[in-house]
Formats: sequence, structure tokens, C-alpha cells
Amino acid sequence: MELRYDWTTEEIEALMEAPLPDLIYRAQQALRAHFDPTCVQLSTLLSVKTGGCPEDCKYCAQSARYATPIAPERMLDKEAVLQAARRAKERGATRFCMSAAWREPPREGLKRFCDLIRAVKDLGLETCATLGMLTEKQAQALKEAGLDYYNHNIDCAPDFYEKIITTRRFEDRIRTLQHVRKAGLRVCSGGIIGMGETRRQRAAMIAELARMRPHPESVPVNLLVKIPGTPLAEEAPDLDPFELVRTIAAARIAMPASFVRLSAGREGMSDELQALCFLAGANSIFYGEKLLTAPNAAPDRDARLFARLGLRPAAAEEASRAANEEAACSTA
Ligand code: SF4
Repeated sequence: MELRYDWTTEEIEALMEAPLPDLIYRAQQALRAHFDPTCVQLSTLLSVKTGGCPEDCKYCAQSARYATPIAPERMLDKEAVLQAARRAKERGATRFCMSAAWREPPREGLKRFCDLIRAVKDLGLETCATLGMLTEKQAQALKEAGLDYYNHNIDCAPDFYEKIITTRRFEDRIRTLQHVRKAGLRVCSGGIIGMGETRRQRAAMIAELARMRPHPESVPVNLLVKIPGTPLAEEAPDLDPFELVRTIAAARIAMPASFVRLSAGREGMSDELQALCFLAGANSIFYGEKLLTAPNAAPDRDARLFARLGLRPAAAEEASRAANEEAACSTA
């Protein structure tokens, strides 16, 4: 299945409006052209520096602007991070993602992160970091430390952005993603749905990602977790769960060789909804009890669900083969 980089919002919206059986059929065709449909890639996420962020993302418990249950913490020390990484590996994770609640990494913080990346790589795990906006030089420093992926979500559609965040612009996100690509890092970028956006805006978000060349190798689709104290906990209307399924299917069809990750919000989803998301083409999850500051589905619940659905965790080689396939296809 050939990769396309010219998707329009209208095309994605039309996909999302299709009868659900047709949409799932197309998403399965796209998935099966590039992946074993029974394999799910597992990533584990650790918050290395929590809270106290100066940005005003209306969904985020780590913003210093909102009275949320999250208290700011100092950066974790190296041994605590390595312990978490070893535990993640024992449980089958192939990628260890580390986050820090920064607008952009401070000089000393970046140095310490580079050291963490080298240490986690030595355990035989892929590494991903999410540290806010990066300059070209900072992206290069992370690459030299051995970082594999950088996560930087576009959050939502460009025309919805200022309703959610006012301390940066949509273009700032795109600029960081360009620096990340230029440094030779793989890109993990997706967004959040259920923030009060329209279906067309969900389609516009997917179209933005699908016009990137190459596509992001990982595309997290997050369902808003309403954390008390954040503005969206009060303001955002509940989203019809089938909209999540439709968004995932559209992401799968538009970016068939990317890992589409069912991310935040899984803890509150029924097993049946998660199963539908896998049928719609999700082939990656965050694994572990905690997702940054929000609870995540418990690992034993995930293991039971995988057994019931006949799914299995993707081995490290399968995960990296698929990522390389995207890189090869998209630069051809
Ligand atoms: S989402 Fe990131 S940038 Fe926004 S407030 Fe939270 S930690 Fe800061």
C-alpha cells in the first residue's frame, strides 16, 4: 500500500463519516499491508520531572497555572529512572519514554537527560523523550546521546489551537518537529480528542500529521482525561466513544505504516471499546500503571485483554523493522 502525503481535511472527514463496518474494513486493510495485526507495540512512560510547567495547556495537570492534585517535583535521580526502565523491560516494553514538564529544556536539564538516555539505551531499550520545544542544537544533542524518538504532539487542529493553549502557537510545534527530523530522530506526534473540537477539527488534526513527510513513526491518539482543576475538566463535553474509533481508523488509513497508539484515556475505557480500537488499527499502547500523572490501565488487565483478543506484544525487532520500513518508504 503506497504512502500518501497529500491528504486533505475533507478526505479524512469523508473517511470518518463512512459507515463503521466500511471504515474498519479499510483500516484493517491498511494495517495488514504493513503490520502483523495480532502484534501490539508496548511503550512505558515515566515522568522524570513532574509539574510546575509555565505553559497553559487547558488539559494538563502539570501546568503551574491550575490548582490540580499534581505538586511540582524535582527531576528524578538516575537510579530511580533506571529501576523503572528495568521494570518496564521485564514486563515486555520495547520503548521507554521519559518526559519532563518544561516549555523547553534548560541547559543543565538537557545535559542530565542526555545522560539518562545513554543509560537507558545500555539496558537494550529504545528511548523516547518529551521535553517541550527544542532548538536545532538541542535536537542534535539528544540524537548524539542516542535518543531514538522525540515526542511532540501537535495537540489538535490548527484552528482550534488557541482555544486550548495560548502560551505557544501551532507553528511552534511544527518548528520543533522540523528540528527533530533534521537531527535524524524518529518522530512520535499525535494529539488529544474530546476537548470540545468538532469532527472536522479531528479530521484536520489527522490530515496535518498525514501531510508530514515522512509520517510520524508513532501517532498517539489520546482521549482527554478530565483531571480536576484543569479548565477542560469542566468545559469539555463528553465525546461519543465511537468518535475515538473513527479517529483511530482515519489515522491508520492515512498513515498505514505508522504505529497508531491508543494512549491517554485507556483506563476509563471498557475492554470492548479497546478491542474496537485495535480493530480500527491501533497497534501500540502505553503499558504500566501510570501515564505521566493520570492513572493508566493496569498491566495485568492488559495481559488478560490481550489473551482474550489473541493479541501479543510486538518484539523489539518487529517494532524497529516496521519503523525502518516507514523511513525507507517515505524517503524513496
Ligand atoms: S502539556 Fe506539556 S507543555 Fe503543556 S502544560 Fe503540560 S507539561 Fe506543560
